[in-house]
Amino acid sequence: EFQSKVSVTLLNKKIHKPTDDKILDVESVPFYRFIEQLVEIITDLLQYIKSQCTPSIAALDDEQRLVEEKHTAEVNKNFTNVILIKYMIMLVKRLNALTDLPLKSIMDDIIKKIDLFYNKKETPIDIEIKIHDYCIQTVNTIVDQLKETEYYLTNPKLDFLTNLLKDLIRKRDNARGLILVSRTLYAKLMFDYFNEREDVKDIIKPGWLVGQNGVDYQNSLSEQDEALKNFRKGLSNVLIATDIVQEVQSRGRARAEKSSCFLVVDKGSKNYVKEMTNRLKELEMLEALKSWQQIPPDQLQVNLQNIQNTIINQWRQQEEIQQIMQSCREDPETMDGKVSCRSCDYYLGELSWIRKRNNNYFISQQQLVERVEVERYSNAQIFKEIQVNGKVRCGNKKCREDIGGVQQFTDRPDIKEICALACKKLKFSIKDTDNNDQVSTHKKWTEVKFKIRELEALKSMTAIPDQK
Ligand SMILES: [Zn+2]
Repeated sequence: EFQSKVSVTLLNKKIHKPTDDKILDVESVPFYRFIEQLVEIITDLLQYIKSQCTPSIAALDDEQRLVEEKHTAEVNKNFTNVILIKYMIMLVKRLNALTDLPLKSIMDDIIKKIDLFYNKKETPIDIEIKIHDYCIQTVNTIVDQLKETEYYLTNPKLDFLTNLLKDLIRKRDNARGLILVSRTLYAKLMFDYFNEREDVKDIIKPGWLVGQNGVDYQNSLSEQDEALKNFRKGLSNVLIATDIVQEVQSRGRARAEKSSCFLVVDKGSKNYVKEMTNRLKELEMLEALKSWQQIPPDQLQVNLQNIQNTIINQWRQQEEIQQIMQSCREDPETMDGKVSCRSCDYYLGELSWIRKRNNNYFISQQQLVERVEVERYSNAQIFKEIQVNGKVRCGNKKCREDIGGVQQFTDRPDIKEICALACKKLKFSIKDTDNNDQVSTHKKWTEVKFKIRELEALKSMTAIPDQK
C-alpha cells in the first residue's frame, strides 16, 4: 500500500497538470445564420454534380459514404463517376470546414483545388470541363457576396482563438502553443490565416506540421524537421499540427509547469458533449485508482497477475493467427499480378517488380519509365539516405495523377533512380486460384495482403571475401 501511494505521489509530481484546463465555448449565432446560406449554395452545387453521375450515386454530403462510392466506381472502372465524386469529396470537406476556417481561405482553396484537378490534364473529358466551369462560376459568385461581409477574412472562433493566444503570449515569457486540428486542410489554412493577420504580426509566429501522406496538404520529412526545429528555437511560437505525431496528445503535451490547455468549441456542439463525457470518464478513472489503493497488497498482487495472464494469452493467440496468415500468403516469386493507377486504371507494371527498402516501396525507374511521366524539381531534396529528384505522375495524359516520387538512395549507387510509389494511388489486381482477377486497394503499404520482396542487398557488401 505504501509503495503504491508513493508511486502515485511521484507520478503526480512528474506530470504537471495544466494550470488551466478549460473548455471555451464561443457564442456565434449570427455567424451560423450567415453560414446557413453558404451551406445551401454549396449543397446545391453538390446536388448538381451528383445529378451528372451515372449510374446515380446515393451519397450527397456524407464524406465517408462518398469515399465508398468513389471506391466502387474505381473498381467498376466508371471513371466519369470517379472524377465527379472526387469533386464532391473535395467540396464536402470544405463545407464541413465553413465554421472553423476563414471563408475567404476556404473559397480560395476550392478554386485552387478545382484548377489543380483540371489543369494537370492535357485532354480533360467533356463532363469535367462542364463541372469545372460550373464550380468556378458558383464559387466566384459566393466570393463576390462574401466580400461585402465582416466574415470574409475571419470567423468568431478564429477571432476568439487569436485573442486568447495573443494574451497568453504577452503574459508569459518564451511562450509556446500547440494547436491540434483534425485535418491537413485546417493546419495549412490556419497557418496562412495567422500569417495574414497584420495585427498579431510579431506576436503570433505560426508554424505548421503535418504528415507527408496528408490528403490535401503535405510536409516532406525535411519540412517536418524544419517546423520542429523552428518551434524549438522559438522562431515560431504557435505550432498548428494534425495528430500525425501520435504521442503529441493535447494534454499530454501541456505538461510543462504553468501550461494551459484549451479546447475551443461551439456551444452545445458534438465536440463539447464529447469532451465533457471524456472528463467524466477521467474522474471515474481517478476514483478507480483510489479504490485500488485500498486493496490489501497480497490481493492486489493476485489481481495484477490475473490481468497480466489474460493479456499475455491474448498476445499468444494473436501471434499464432499471424503466423498462420503469413504461411498462407502466396510465394512472391510466382505471384502473378498487376499494378495500375487507381484514378484511371492505366496499367503501370507488374506486382513482382515492386521492391521494399525500409519504409520505401518502389519500382526501379527503368522498368516503369514508359508508363509514367516524370516531373523533375530544379533542386533535388536530400533527406538522410534518400534524394528526392521529382514527382512521378500517371502516364495517362487524361489523368496525370500524382503517384509518387522520383528518388535515389544515396547509399546504393548500384541502383539508379527509383519510383517510390504511393500505395493509396494504386490499384492491384491479382489472379486467384480460379484465374480470376481480384482487385484490391489499400491505404498504406503495410496493409497489403501480398508479400513484397525486400531489396536485394548490395552484392559487393555481402560477398564473402576470398579465403587464402
Ligand atoms: Zn491515372
